Amino acid sequence: MAESAAKPTRFTLEQMRELAKAELHCHLDGSIRVKTVLELAKEQNVALPTSDEAELKKLVMVGENCESLEEYLKAFEITLSVLQEAYALTRVIYEICEDAKKEGVWYIEVRFSPILHMSKGLNLSQIMEAICEGQSLAERHLGINVRIIVCGMRQMAASVTIKMAEIAWRYRNKGVSGFDLAGPELGFGANVHRSAFEIIRKKCLNVTLHSGEGAGWESIEESILTCGVNRIGHGTRLVQNDDLLQVVANRRITIESCVTSNIQTKAVATLAEHPIRKFFDAGLVVVPCCDNCTVSDVQLSGEYMLIQDSFNFTPEEILRMTDYGFSSAFLEPSRKKRLRQDALRHNVTVLQKYGFDVIGPLNHLQFSDVVSPCVQDDVLTHFMGTSVRPNRDEVDPKITLDLIRKLPKVSAKYWIVLSSILNQIKFLSHIYFFLYHCNNLYRLIYMQAYQAQRILGLCGKERRSRNLIWKQYAVPNLQMRSRLSIIGKSVIVNQ
Ligand SMILES: [Zn+2]
Repeated sequence: MAESAAKPTRFTLEQMRELAKAELHCHLDGSIRVKTVLELAKEQNVALPTSDEAELKKLVMVGENCESLEEYLKAFEITLSVLQEAYALTRVIYEICEDAKKEGVWYIEVRFSPILHMSKGLNLSQIMEAICEGQSLAERHLGINVRIIVCGMRQMAASVTIKMAEIAWRYRNKGVSGFDLAGPELGFGANVHRSAFEIIRKKCLNVTLHSGEGAGWESIEESILTCGVNRIGHGTRLVQNDDLLQVVANRRITIESCVTSNIQTKAVATLAEHPIRKFFDAGLVVVPCCDNCTVSDVQLSGEYMLIQDSFNFTPEEILRMTDYGFSSAFLEPSRKKRLRQDALRHNVTVLQKYGFDVIGPLNHLQFSDVVSPCVQDDVLTHFMGTSVRPNRDEVDPKITLDLIRKLPKVSAKYWIVLSSILNQIKFLSHIYFFLYHCNNLYRLIYMQAYQAQRILGLCGKERRSRNLIWKQYAVPNLQMRSRLSIIGKSVIVNQ
């Protein structure tokens, strides 16, 4: 039989566009189309430095000649001048979603600071209504999932940030899902705004913060300790402190990594020095994002291509980063899970269509809780080297509490507190016995191994140990499963 053709190892731009992606870091005022700036200026009688589209592009798209974050932020003076009317805000958020959709974006969070849109007399409620209107129009007509992040501004008074936090909370049921601090970072610490974050924390709103971009690692530490971030925007200076990097990894704090933007704002000196590869290899949850599509002149698929080609990310790693995007979304848990599953299923279809290896990437533990049972069956077969499908002629043995007791298990308390071990094992067996009747066995085994790995992470152990526990712990369970021919589905059917 002829050897099958070698599998591709790189995505093309077109293939990258087809992959379902999440855009978690996108500024409204930095992603407006240049053409729209011209049209809005004409409608509103706003004087622009030039009315020529090519000339305006040069002023709004900063490119590589930008000297600093402060200079980068100057481009926003032009875009903000046409974003002071309600209809303009609705139009622009809709168009951003339209552009994102063309890039294969299934989920987008658009961020903006309402305080920057009040110069022509709009009040905060009118601004929020206009943005939420655009968000719901985009969800209805474009079939894309959209959420809004409200930004406080670092350079403004703490009282303003509190107002932004309160308005974010008021519109939480109308599409707002998170809070951020934007603006110049150096010299403007987040600590000043801690009262706003107390409100946000009490109201259980998600937090992402621009930090470690214009200032050092101390700013990231402040974001974690003072503001209780779920995600960090940029975080490039995390390379300066390995202990802090470990904290970010263990707490599963997501890094929204905007490579092109980071080069333009001089957060990193050169592309080669960008830490995205280091972050990913250290176990951080890293999600490529655009920051400002217009100002940085980037599209999300292009950013993924840049990362793939510059840092040798494999198709499996690209797939994992797209999944990180969905798992880090500020969405309700049930909706997030469904979207994550749908996106993974779609992306696997894309991989198959272009002849990429599928089993290998799906084998990764990251996907253990989203891969459907039928796919897991194939993955387990691949993992074990032999078929683990049950022999239909054999009668499934009865699952007893005794059997569950024999399976190796992990308890967070067992590892960390090290108290009353025997009692806990006994107690755990009961929990697992209960879980058997609600879940299927594949899922349980994966969950156990995954939990063990995460606990090792919390204990600060090496990655090597994590692999070891997977072998020592998950494999015997899988083999036991194979011998006993238990399949979750039939357990449920038999009841
Ligand atoms: Zn940003």
